[in-house]
Amino acid sequence: MNSAVARKRMVAELVKRGITDQRVVNVMLELPRHIFVEEAMSAQAYNDGSLPIGEKQTISQPYIVARMTELLALTGREKVLELGTGSGYQAAVLATLADRVCTVERIRPLALKARKALDSLRLLNVNLKIGDGTEGWPEEAPFDAILVTAGAPFLPECLIEQLAPGGRLVIPVGDRVDQKLLVVRKGMDGSVTREEADDCRFVRLIGKNGWSDEP
Ligand code: SAM
Repeated sequence: MNSAVARKRMVAELVKRGITDQRVVNVMLELPRHIFVEEAMSAQAYNDGSLPIGEKQTISQPYIVARMTELLALTGREKVLELGTGSGYQAAVLATLADRVCTVERIRPLALKARKALDSLRLLNVNLKIGDGTEGWPEEAPFDAILVTAGAPFLPECLIEQLAPGGRLVIPVGDRVDQKLLVVRKGMDGSVTREEADDCRFVRLIGKNGWSDEP
């Protein structure tokens, strides 16, 4: 099956499962997910599942990528922070739907691979940093949207501080295995509201404001 046909099937499944944001649907129809996974796994790239990307990390399931992106309600004008670049696929989705993306990955070999994949798609609006994303990216703040793509034990306060008025933050919060997506909205007056969304399972967010590095 060619990749465009496989993407069409994948996206049809996402829509069946409740994804309604047409901009998200369109970008996932167009973006080649197979270039973000090992060649040996490219046949599975358009199944609705997570896949290993090396270093004991994963590229997230397409449904959760779509759902988290939808929750950010991007219009195209935003500056977005992503924590947990991984393969770079989610950053590519965000870069297509927003004005600028800053993304942070703590594992160097993954960051370098992701950079290559993003460059091959000429996504020049992605700024990638290697480091501990649990501290956000204060030099680049404020952000109109923040997306955390690893499971956190709690919501780091510094991320709320780095969110612009009117901004949204989506983060999986829970234990080492199971989490719930937490959607945080900052009002124009600086007030903050929190709401829980889907159940999810992410690899751990490791760092100063996350889990410790111990197994
Ligand atoms: N968004 C990714 C994608 O599209 O492939 C999937 C992310 S993967 C589920 C989680 C990633 O978060 C891993 O690559 C992991 O190394 C990274 N990570 C964990 N803790 C981090 C931290 N404190 N700062 C930056 N990245 C972190």
